[in-house]
Amino acid sequence: MNNVTSHNADAESSALVIDWKNSLAAAGPQASQVLADLGDQHAAELAAHFYKVMMNDTRASRSLSHDQVRGRLQPAMQRWVGDLLRANPDNVESLIAAQRVVGDVHARVGIPVDLVTRGTRVLKQRMFTLIAESAGHGKAAHAAIASLTASFDIALEGMTLAYSNARDRSSRTDAAYRLFSLVQNVSTERERQRALLLDWENTLLYALASQGEVAGFQPLAQSEFGLWFTHKGIPSFGESSETQQINALVSGVDQLLQHTLNRDSEPSSRALQLQEVRTKVSQIRNLLGMLFERIGELDAGCDALTNLLNRRFLPTVLRREIDLAHKSNGSFAVLLLDLDHFKAINDEHGHEAGDRALQHVASILNQFTRGSDYVFRYGGEEFVVVLVAVEEQQALVIAEGLCRRIHDAPVPLSDEQRLSITASIGVALYDGHPDYERVMARADAAMYQAKKQGRNRVILGTDSLPPAPGLSPLQRR
Ligand code: GH3
Ligand code: MG
Ligand code: MG
Repeated sequence: MNNVTSHNADAESSALVIDWKNSLAAAGPQASQVLADLGDQHAAELAAHFYKVMMNDTRASRSLSHDQVRGRLQPAMQRWVGDLLRANPDNVESLIAAQRVVGDVHARVGIPVDLVTRGTRVLKQRMFTLIAESAGHGKAAHAAIASLTASFDIALEGMTLAYSNARDRSSRTDAAYRLFSLVQNVSTERERQRALLLDWENTLLYALASQGEVAGFQPLAQSEFGLWFTHKGIPSFGESSETQQINALVSGVDQLLQHTLNRDSEPSSRALQLQEVRTKVSQIRNLLGMLFERIGELDAGCDALTNLLNRRFLPTVLRREIDLAHKSNGSFAVLLLDLDHFKAINDEHGHEAGDRALQHVASILNQFTRGSDYVFRYGGEEFVVVLVAVEEQQALVIAEGLCRRIHDAPVPLSDEQRLSITASIGVALYDGHPDYERVMARADAAMYQAKKQGRNRVILGTDSLPPAPGLSPLQRR
């Protein structure tokens, strides 16, 4: 999260904190007691009720049906309901922070906002009934309902705030990834499209000069440039006023060609019209240059040293793989590699030799995985490989192979020395959990075990492994 976003989120959180405190103060002790009693006596039943209602929705049941979710959600929901019902002015800050964590999880898993609002509606309605049963319809019941409504709405707002921020960030990365995969090499593509446009123009001039007519001449929209622009250019650049102008210019050029140049008109007026075509083509060239320049300003999709995928695309790839695995009932695996004693390598052989070693490992990872797999530079001397459509046994065989190859192929250094390196690899299989941080955490725990057990080895991550110390892998750095 960048500073601006986090600053805004904090400012918006503090507005919620103030509102919540005011609403709790306005409720008064009697209403607060009604709500606290409700939390003590009915939180478990409310959580069960929520789960039962939500499981009837096919979209919700997809996220909720995983065993782990089922096992954890009900107690977590019970705690969540209890905490909201027992909210007091002293703990609303931490309650808002907790809602933001929930919003982040919803964003990662891709739970639609309407399901969350429906969930809170279901809970609120049940609570209104319970309040009427326990406190009647008097003043205290009324105040309790008002306070409860405010608490749930504010909690939902806190969640949605985090959710929208996280979704905004991830949709920006998704878009950047799409762009990156469509136009892999911006400068080559720029030159290629410029050349194609120029070719088209030259062919037109040649046709006019040699045959004096352009009947049957390929329209610009149908030319290789035109097709590229429609199919790849616009989706890559994104719709903008520049892409619209280019579209308009391309149609303008083709209309001129069809309707005017094609007819027998005066050579002098033809020359003028031809000039108009050339002006339009040159405008297209300029606009295209601007669009390419803008793409070039985006962060590179690849890591500069190793040319592997940049780690910021990992969530995009994992979300998509989870989706595909879920739809096809398939699986995928994540390998987390960390090179062993890399600090010592830098210290003994210099940073440049260290860099060379990283490139060497990157090329082994690329060479011995399939084109459909993904290889990321994850951090300094850490790599992540996403093996698509594999089962546990295949993933382990591939991981063992990579580990052995890294060990068996020392890095050639410039002074003809050979530098031995090894890697510790944690392997985690997708287990159906919709949150990609889970599979990353298991790979991390396994990698940590591989280090602990002596390095240069592969360990399979299971739920019984203790978590790796420190931040979760995607939060590090
Ligand atoms: P361990 O076996 O426990 O992983 O030991 P380690 O020394 O590899 O562990 P640690 O993560 O503490 O050190 C990683 C080192 O990698 C620190 C840093 O000097 C080095 N490193 C990180 N990025 C780069 C890089 O881009 N180039 C080079 N040459 N070294 C790097
Ligand atoms: Mg490391
Ligand atoms: Mg290391």
